[in-house]
Amino acid sequence: MSSTGPDSGAVSPPPLPLHVVEQFAVGLQLRNQGYRGRFAPSPTGPLHAGNLRTALLAWLSARLAGGVILLRIDDLDAPRNRPGAVEALQADLAWLGLTWDGPVELQSRQRGLYATVLSGLRRGGWLYPCRCSRRMLADVSAPHGASPIYPGTCRRQPPDWSARGGRLPSWRLRLPPGSIRWQERHAAPGCLDAATQVGDVVLRRADGFLAYHLATAVDELRLGITEVVRGVDLWPATGPQVALMGLLGMAPPAYGHVPLLCDGRGQRLSKRDGAEGLEGMRRRGLDAPAVIGLLAAGAGLVPAGSRLSATELLQEVRPQALAQALQA
Ligand code: GLU
Repeated sequence: MSSTGPDSGAVSPPPLPLHVVEQFAVGLQLRNQGYRGRFAPSPTGPLHAGNLRTALLAWLSARLAGGVILLRIDDLDAPRNRPGAVEALQADLAWLGLTWDGPVELQSRQRGLYATVLSGLRRGGWLYPCRCSRRMLADVSAPHGASPIYPGTCRRQPPDWSARGGRLPSWRLRLPPGSIRWQERHAAPGCLDAATQVGDVVLRRADGFLAYHLATAVDELRLGITEVVRGVDLWPATGPQVALMGLLGMAPPAYGHVPLLCDGRGQRLSKRDGAEGLEGMRRRGLDAPAVIGLLAAGAGLVPAGSRLSATELLQEVRPQALAQALQA
């Protein structure tokens, strides 16, 4: 482990190869050219009304700012991907008239880059192996509903390598103590305490999969994202992602965490529970202007019952109303 790494208490950036540093430098240049947003669905099933509303708000934010918006597909967690979901979600977004700039970004194509960053973090002493099983963690973690904070077992006491057969460790980020802060574009700034509210997140799972936090932090930087518009359920994920960007020597984008859409019983919509997608809405006879009207009215952007295309909405929407819709 590096003598200037986090174990010694000194903060040193992880050693990264030139081609990675160059990609981040390109991202920085892109950031300086104006607004750059992204919508980043996971291809785990059809987009439901909540996902579509977030897509619409992210798209409107970028277009209203005269900026760029990218479509990024978070497809690293291969077992959760559904065949045909990438094509289906692209078709759904196109049907709604939401257009994207540049090529679609697939995270699965960037595995090499994420692995290189991971290895730099590891060589810099920012990672440690963890052999805690889910069951062990369930016994000590927060009650159901709160997000579990890793108690730091393997950080304090390195695992006994000989003890547990062939099981590979996961690799956790050795998060430096202190406050993690970020800008919320339409809400109070975000602030989380690293030790008690974030904890040492897994960046490489025991099964070898690279974690969402790592890929997302790297992508925001390399793609030069200036503002992330996404569901408020991901507000807590911002802590580890911003911390990671800081370790990589880069400032984070601003964030706009938008309210989640709930069903009639106040439960948030989820793909797992089969929340209705566009196919269901089309079966009910809704066309694209009706769906845009419905999504926009739900966000308080237009009166209920409005029918309009995405482009018409863009012309109609007032920046103040959009800012309000973005407040979770
Ligand atoms: N892929 C994540 C999701 O669909 C969103 C990631 C993000 O916007 O950062 O929930």
